[in-house]
Amino acid sequence: MIRCPCGPVITVTPDAQDGDIVLCRVCGSAHRLNRQADTFTLEPLDMQGSAEDLKPRPETRPIEAFISLAPATVTI
Ligand SMILES: [Zn+2]
Repeated sequence: MIRCPCGPVITVTPDAQDGDIVLCRVCGSAHRLNRQADTFTLEPLDMQGSAEDLKPRPETRPIEAFISLAPATVTI
């Protein structure tokens, strides 16, 4: 989690890149991710996400990454 001015509420996925634009799902503000060592800092942008941008969506990539670590078969 990365700290937005409204709180530590922004989730960054493992495939996030330097310069990506992320939205805070709480206050709706837009930020640019700036890589700093093994984490990111936020550069506030003078933009707000639209209602469509902020609509909840399942974050399937972390689930798929977790499932990819499971063995293909299990011997019982
Ligand atoms: Zn926020």
